[in-house]
Amino acid sequence: MNIHEYQGKQVLKQYGVSVPEGHVAFSPEEAVKAAKELGSDVVVVKAQIHAGGRGKAGGVKLAKNLDEVREYAKELLGKVLVTHQTGPEGKEVKRLYIEAGSNIEKEYYLGLVLDRETSLVNLMGSEEGGVDIEEVAANTPERIFYEAIDPVVGLTGFQARRLAFNMNIPAKLVNKAAKLMLGLYQAYIEKDAAIVEINPLVVTGDGQVVALDAKFNFDANALARHPDIMEMRDYDEEDAKEIEASKYDLSYISLDGNIGCMVNGAGLAMATMDTINYYGGSPANFLDVGGGATAEKVTEAFKIILSDKNVKGIFVNIFGGIMKCDIIAEGVIQAAKEVDLEVPLVVRLEGTNVEIGKKLLNESGLNIVAAGTMADGAKQIVELVG
Ligand code: ADP
Ligand code: MG
Repeated sequence: MNIHEYQGKQVLKQYGVSVPEGHVAFSPEEAVKAAKELGSDVVVVKAQIHAGGRGKAGGVKLAKNLDEVREYAKELLGKVLVTHQTGPEGKEVKRLYIEAGSNIEKEYYLGLVLDRETSLVNLMGSEEGGVDIEEVAANTPERIFYEAIDPVVGLTGFQARRLAFNMNIPAKLVNKAAKLMLGLYQAYIEKDAAIVEINPLVVTGDGQVVALDAKFNFDANALARHPDIMEMRDYDEEDAKEIEASKYDLSYISLDGNIGCMVNGAGLAMATMDTINYYGGSPANFLDVGGGATAEKVTEAFKIILSDKNVKGIFVNIFGGIMKCDIIAEGVIQAAKEVDLEVPLVVRLEGTNVEIGKKLLNESGLNIVAAGTMADGAKQIVELVG
């Protein structure tokens, strides 16, 4: 789960990480009020969306007086911001963060992420801040430094200082930077984060080390332990189809292809997506209907797939083990009747009650293409979608 920058900064503050003062605002009036309270000469009006790259997209504005604050707030609220992380459809700005302007001397990058190869949390830092870290990683990987953290010992002061030195943080500020890193690591661990990214971390003209941006992603499986974080969830920022799917306990992830997939089991779902890709197609979603799905659940899953306007065909690939093929067939039929099914549908069923399932589908009067194998099914749906 992601949260907004201003919420991330609230978390960081609890761990002693320096962040500029700021207030969230939902209207130009609130923005002006917030700026007045800050009383700073320069305030920054920042669009709050769950995506980075706002600066380049015009979502971060420097205001030198209250009139400018009002002007920028009016301009940004309701605007659809398109950044390199939002996709071409962009994201509508509904909240702003009004923050005291920082006197930036230099921008750095700092991040914490779990390295799945070593099963260790890695602290990453670079002198190349403010820009895309992916670009730095691709072009000048030697400019990113890492510290692998022992989970028992935790991040040590020695490691933090070594990273700060490697990042070329001015010698007299290394201890301040190291202290910030220790706070950041504590926040990451205690809040069960998956990623924390501070881009940029800045050194200011008056010798402070400050987190100017904050991106948090939390492990969704651990959210039950963190009601404070759960409260920060912003449904407006999430895919409506994914929210709907979570109500029915379906594992659904929206993708940008055009072949809707309904599969049981995460492994089979991944393999199905790979097979579609192999035959030159592109999946519109990942969907695992799970083992104990009911006909109702399958119907909902079907509706969610079809609510995606990009879907030009559906591939149902079910291996009935715990899940029975006839239940899937019933759900498919029910759903196809409820929503006018206009796109081609390829179904591959195998396993428990497969004969009953096939019979139900054959007698349903629906236009269904039966596939013998997974490869055959993937090939057919790719051809039908064109
Ligand atoms: P994004 O990563 O989405 O572009 P950031 O929060 O990193 O958004 O802001 C982009 C840039 O705007 C920063 O790299 C920094 O140069 C500037 N900026 C952001 N916040 C402030 C601030 N409080 N004071 C001064 N400059 C800021
Ligand atoms: Mg940033």
